[in-house]
Amino acid sequence: MILSSKALDIKPSSTLAITAKAKQMKADGIDVVGFGAGEPDFDTPDHIKEAAIKAMNEGFTKYTPASGILPLKEAICKKLQDDNNVSYKPNQIVVSNGAKHSLTNTFMAILNPSDEVIIPGPFWLSYVQMVKIADGVPVVVKASKENNYKVTIDELKKALTDKTKAILINSPSNPTGMIYTEEELRAIADFAVSNDLFVVADEIYEKLIYGDEKHVSIASFNEEIYKRTIIINGVSKTYAMTGWRIGYAAAPAEIAKIMGNVQSHASSNPNSLAQKAALAAISGSQECVDVMKTEFNKRRNYMYDRISKMSYISAIKPQGAFYLFVDLADVLGKTYNNEVIEDANVFAKLLLDNESVAVVPCTDFGYNTHFRLSYAIAMENIEKGLDRIERFLENLK
Ligand SMILES: *Cc1c(COP(=O)(O)O)cnc(C)c1O
Repeated sequence: MILSSKALDIKPSSTLAITAKAKQMKADGIDVVGFGAGEPDFDTPDHIKEAAIKAMNEGFTKYTPASGILPLKEAICKKLQDDNNVSYKPNQIVVSNGAKHSLTNTFMAILNPSDEVIIPGPFWLSYVQMVKIADGVPVVVKASKENNYKVTIDELKKALTDKTKAILINSPSNPTGMIYTEEELRAIADFAVSNDLFVVADEIYEKLIYGDEKHVSIASFNEEIYKRTIIINGVSKTYAMTGWRIGYAAAPAEIAKIMGNVQSHASSNPNSLAQKAALAAISGSQECVDVMKTEFNKRRNYMYDRISKMSYISAIKPQGAFYLFVDLADVLGKTYNNEVIEDANVFAKLLLDNESVAVVPCTDFGYNTHFRLSYAIAMENIEKGLDRIERFLENLK
């Protein structure tokens, strides 16, 4: 039988694969340090769990409206107004099974076959596959380290064709932790408006910012860019709720409507109890976010300082999210136990096999000269893992 060539072209998520391998090694009794985590290590705060328990006990266990319950949509609208200075009505909000689902819905809603989506690299690996799922063509634009891994308008212009339909912006970024300044975003907004493009703004890490930088929503600048922007956000990263699967999109009403239509047939509503939990997260006290942020920040500072002192590798200090994007260009060509390190994949494999440290090689993020470390793991593991990486590097020839 011939299977779908489109589906066969979709790559599995390598971050999930590495995390799974590290977990398996751990289960086998090996003392692994896993830096692969793409999720907070904290437990979901109690008041959020209690909202779900209450909903369950009250029998809130049936289908809800396919695009989400009204109180949650209203809370999201209020949040967008208060935090991001953008006005939305509930009919512009679609609540889905995680921001991943919101992104896939978005591409399904805006793309026709062979439409191109500009994805600045380094990029979160799922974007490329999601665009393909929606019959679009991902066009990767690699940003340079010199510009803090952020794309410039000149680089975007070079990627522009008459097929370009949208540009994706992820700030703070996974994997770099970089944040686009307001000025940079305004230039991207002008570029999108003057070339008639949509902007898909993945703002999932907006609350995890550690320095003085401020998150700005690109949709907030003016009516023109507002009409072209689809904001993607969710509760996974901010509230340590990755398993609950609640994300959302905020979009012009026409787009939200067709996203809701697609979702109503593909999956119907996201889990009813998780919607109540997300409502508690978004509308409740935000103190829990500060507690987690303070801890992330300590780890970020420690990790950055340690990596900066190591031979052959370097990183730019991340401003947000919970990752360090590490440049290993100077490691390439060196050998470990007579094996040549050709790229980040070989590096990651040797590190896992010899030092039981799992890192994410960024080949699938568009950079085979870099790897990603997550600091969403306990400090003692960070210390242990960095000791091992240091030892590994000292053994290079
Ligand atoms: C984790 C992540 C998401 C999606 O998270 P969900 O759990 O699906 O809500 C989206 N974008 C980026 C950049 C992420 O790192």
